[in-house]
Amino acid sequence: MKKSAFILILAVYFNAVSCQTSSEKKSETKKPMETSYNKSDAEWQKLLSPEQYEVLRKKGTERPGTGIYNNHFKKGFYTCAGCGTELFSSEQKFDSHCGWPSFDGELGGGDRVRKIADYSHGMIRTEIVCAKCGGHLGHIFDDGPTATGQRYCVNSLSLGFKETVNDSIQK
Ligand code: FE
Repeated sequence: MKKSAFILILAVYFNAVSCQTSSEKKSETKKPMETSYNKSDAEWQKLLSPEQYEVLRKKGTERPGTGIYNNHFKKGFYTCAGCGTELFSSEQKFDSHCGWPSFDGELGGGDRVRKIADYSHGMIRTEIVCAKCGGHLGHIFDDGPTATGQRYCVNSLSLGFKETVNDSIQK
């Protein structure tokens, strides 16, 4: 084999390898959301009640005034019903009279609740999801009555609750 033919074969081979790597990288970026708690649809259906599954995984909304945490003001932490992450404190909850549990902030440094632009149903809103498992929580609005000005409007079906026995609640 001539030296020039050998170099040509090498060039074609490395080009093919680099193309494959680049297309693999492209397909990775097409995934809708990277979370550290990925489960299959079938696994979520086993883990959640049908109502929780509809809200958390299909972005459904419970009817206003029907959720168990709407008029719930015990001291404790509100968790993600999908993965158990503590998302909100009872200190952050307020009575918004909107029919859904409402919070004026979130626990942690802003890395537990992910905000996503939502243009569905002919509206411009900001959806909120659990950053760990991607579960739909509700929406966030900037019309809150407290100093933060924020209203995290959350479905009760997206939440769990851990009651605290002392006054050690921290935001
Ligand atoms: Fe979660």
